[in-house]
Amino acid sequence: MEDPLAALPKLKGEELTPCVCCQKQLLSTGFPLFYRAPLQRVGIDANAIRERVGLISMWGGDPRTAPLAEIFAARDPGIVMDQSPAVNVCIDCAQVHTFETIYFRALEACEGRAA
Ligand SMILES: [Zn+2]
Repeated sequence: MEDPLAALPKLKGEELTPCVCCQKQLLSTGFPLFYRAPLQRVGIDANAIRERVGLISMWGGDPRTAPLAEIFAARDPGIVMDQSPAVNVCIDCAQVHTFETIYFRALEACEGRAA
């Protein structure tokens, strides 16, 4: 019989970083499950956005003209995604913290700020 877990992606050892909320090792909870929260930092061309806002303003500021601005804008927004490392959240923290708290801690960790 084939192992159903064998086909799933595996984490590397260095990806088993402590919980981003409590800083404890992941298996210290005694429960062998935890969450991983990937974050993506995204950058866009600010001039392309200004161009679209300018077109919408020129047409009276009606947000319904946004699709037209998209068509007539000369610049591509050029979205650039920078893959930041994922963070781990132990099962205990996932059960007691709000999504906003976990996300804030994840942002702090990815930006290298002290928690
Ligand atoms: Zn935790």
